Amino acid sequence: MQVKAPRGTYDILPQDSVKWQYIEKIMRDSAESFGFREIRTPLFEHSELFQRGVGQGTDIVSKEMYSFNDRSRRSLTLRPEGTAPCARALIEHGIYSGVMPVKWYYLGPMFRYDRPQTGRYRQFHQFGVEAFGSNSPYLDAEIIILLVEILRRLGLDDYELHLNSLGCSVCRDDYRQKLLQHISPFKEQLCQDCQQRYMQNPLRVLDCKMETCHQAIRGYPIFYDHLCPYCQEHYSRVQAALQANGVSYIHDNNLVRGLDYYSNTAFEIHLPGIGAQSAVGGGGRYDGLVKELGGPDIPGIGFALGMERLLLALDMLGKREFSKPSLDVFVVVMNDAYEMQGLQLVSELRRRGIRADKDYGGRSGKAQMKYAGKTAARFVVMVGEEEVEKHFWTLRDMQSKEQRQLGQEELIDSIRSVIETK
Ligand SMILES: [Zn+2]
Ligand SMILES: [Zn+2]
Repeated sequence: MQVKAPRGTYDILPQDSVKWQYIEKIMRDSAESFGFREIRTPLFEHSELFQRGVGQGTDIVSKEMYSFNDRSRRSLTLRPEGTAPCARALIEHGIYSGVMPVKWYYLGPMFRYDRPQTGRYRQFHQFGVEAFGSNSPYLDAEIIILLVEILRRLGLDDYELHLNSLGCSVCRDDYRQKLLQHISPFKEQLCQDCQQRYMQNPLRVLDCKMETCHQAIRGYPIFYDHLCPYCQEHYSRVQAALQANGVSYIHDNNLVRGLDYYSNTAFEIHLPGIGAQSAVGGGGRYDGLVKELGGPDIPGIGFALGMERLLLALDMLGKREFSKPSLDVFVVVMNDAYEMQGLQLVSELRRRGIRADKDYGGRSGKAQMKYAGKTAARFVVMVGEEEVEKHFWTLRDMQSKEQRQLGQEELIDSIRSVIETK
């Protein structure tokens, strides 16, 4: 029996889940304040969805998918990303025939068979948004403003936003040819991956992390110079809208993104303070995706943020403390004879919205007081002979060490007046 979690996976223990809850709440609240609503799709889909929706030529599909045959020999894949499942749901439920744009967000685990390293896992978590049904450049700007707003609320203001345009199907084919012509003479100097993928998608060579590949193709034609008038206009409106909203960005000719279905606006967000692997998220427009998956020809745009990287950033750069006491009140039963009264009191406190607990380990009164201190509960309520006979409770404020004897309603009011102002 193997009692370790599989390689590339990990447990989120309670001392860490407070951080997850904190960041997830900021993401949900931000997205909802921008008019996005939550969608939850299955953790696995038909493999074909990702082969078509992410693209055969990508690393994700060619080397990183967790695919398996189920007992009926269907090929299924644990979702490696969230955009294709959203597009599939949009088509399946005919949602595109309603009010547009459709604005969704999602949050949850994704799976990629990748080499585990700091901040990178085989089961990892993403928060993402997708907006379908509008090609307005102002929607592109809104999506980016939401991304920046999330980082601002997390206190991670020191970001770098990289921005580029990947053109439309018309100007991209044109550019692709020019790039192919430029690269062909130097193909021997490219890395293994690039030699394989440059014929299929020469833009991927620009995305390569190997310095030798960049050296080999230096002086390559820039996409920006080959955008058609529509794409130029679209891109300049996105930039103007970002400027008007005080979002600074860096135009980055090398930004092409790994997925095949991107078009027009593409962006990536970096936190330089966290080191070499500084990208925490990115996204862009994918106007061909819904049609590629068998739906109508409607545009889409979105982004995804890597939760693990963001948590790493919060640990390294964040200014916030996460210790959160899990209890408001610990009820100390001074004498076994009053266990029942103790349990009734705990139940009543909980019914009234107070987080309360008691001992179930048969500890002495003194040991329970010590245990209460460890739980970091703000208050202790003591239940002993005198209390039960005279119908009051002894409330001890663990911060001020002040002790008072109160009737039950007064007790509840005093506790609430403290915990609700926190
Ligand atoms: Zn174009
Ligand atoms: Zn390369």
